[in-house]
Amino acid sequence: MNTFTESEERQELRKAVAKLAGKYGGDWFAQKARAGEKTTELWLEIGKNGYLGINIPEEYGGGGGGIGDIAAVCEELATAGCPLLLMVVSPAICGTIISKYGTDEQKQRWLPGICDGTSTMAFAITEPDAGTNTHNITTTARKDGDGWVLNGRKIYISGVDEADNVLVVARAEDARTGKVKPVLFVVPTDAAGFEAQPIPMEIVSPELQFSVFLDDVRLPADALVGDEDGGLAQLFTGLNPERIMASAFATGMARHALGKATAYAKERTVFKGPIGSHQAIAHPLAQAHIEIEMARLMTQKAAALYDAGDEFGAGEAANMAKYAAGEAACHAADVAVQTHGGNGITQEYGVAGLLVAARTTRIAPVSREMILNFVAMHSLGLPKSY
Ligand SMILES: Cc1cc2nc3c(=O)[nH]c(=O)nc-3n(C[C@H](O)[C@H](O)[C@H](O)COP(=O)(O)OP(=O)(O)OC[C@H]3O[C@@H](n4cnc5c(N)ncnc54)[C@H](O)[C@@H]3O)c2cc1C
Repeated sequence: MNTFTESEERQELRKAVAKLAGKYGGDWFAQKARAGEKTTELWLEIGKNGYLGINIPEEYGGGGGGIGDIAAVCEELATAGCPLLLMVVSPAICGTIISKYGTDEQKQRWLPGICDGTSTMAFAITEPDAGTNTHNITTTARKDGDGWVLNGRKIYISGVDEADNVLVVARAEDARTGKVKPVLFVVPTDAAGFEAQPIPMEIVSPELQFSVFLDDVRLPADALVGDEDGGLAQLFTGLNPERIMASAFATGMARHALGKATAYAKERTVFKGPIGSHQAIAHPLAQAHIEIEMARLMTQKAAALYDAGDEFGAGEAANMAKYAAGEAACHAADVAVQTHGGNGITQEYGVAGLLVAARTTRIAPVSREMILNFVAMHSLGLPKSY
């Protein structure tokens, strides 16, 4: 990154997405969530406008841009009150992995639908027993003639009900013990033996999380993405985009919370002036703003490094950005509730729900503790603690 301002093109992209998302907004998003409905019209509209697949190569229906572009889209949507978790998953994680490791035929099959929003792809790595320690996953892929058979269980998988396919991370049967060699499969959600059950969550979002059960799911050979001996490198391809997107998602949510709080602080008067004239209200808002801007800058740095091909440098920056963004989002949501007083707890003002949503950004897709482990070990050279 040679400059501290984004290109004019990126700024225009942000404006266009903000305008589009402004037609929907946070009240609409919350209403959809509470009614058990989906945000399909928004999803398809961002797809139709070319924003959903903006990071995917043009020959497969994308915009040929970078992760910085799709992160900007994700952030502006969240800022407008429409945080779409599936943007992190479908175009950024799945889209990146398939673009890099898929065959031409696989790219033709899956990427156009990811780009225009008509065929969303979920991503499943987390397992109930392995948790953060993904080296311990036990979902197993067994060779069966020309194809494969998958068995296992995944948890907290976002958007399975909205997805046609799930990119599932498994381990090859002969690697059941020893170091895991992840193998990646695109599994149709209507495959025999595939079952998904929603997990009741406290997040106010139309996007749901699921337990996924894979019971003798038979897949053709061409469901395998990449090399069956490819190892961790294939999986790691999706990690930097995932973290950069999660940061954008969190900073967007934080901007949304802060925007609501600032507007309220300018309006609400209970003593002489508006409550924003009291430093006890103004300073936390200013502090949240500073934290958000720092997190955004680190997110943009991570994206710029990644898009310039510096995966290693991007790794450290993406972890730091994700940490900073999660902390900024939690603080901004908390400040927004406090600024609103009793109104901060009502459904009508739409800020209390942000507390849980913001809290999620400290846990998923990678927890703050694991980021601190990474920084302690890789940035500071401290011994591995786990
Ligand atoms: C809303 C939501 C959506 C999600 N969507 C997806 C999805 O689409 N696909 C998917 O695959 N997964 C998804 N996840 C799962 C998510 O990635 C995991 O929840 C996350 O990685 C943490 O794993 P865990 O919940 O098993 O926590 P655990 O691994 O049980 O960890 C519990 C706590 O212990 C801490 N901890 C664990 N090990 C260490 C250590 N060595 N040092 C310090 N602290 C440690 C953790 O940081 C955490 O605070 C989602 C989760 C949520 C909440």
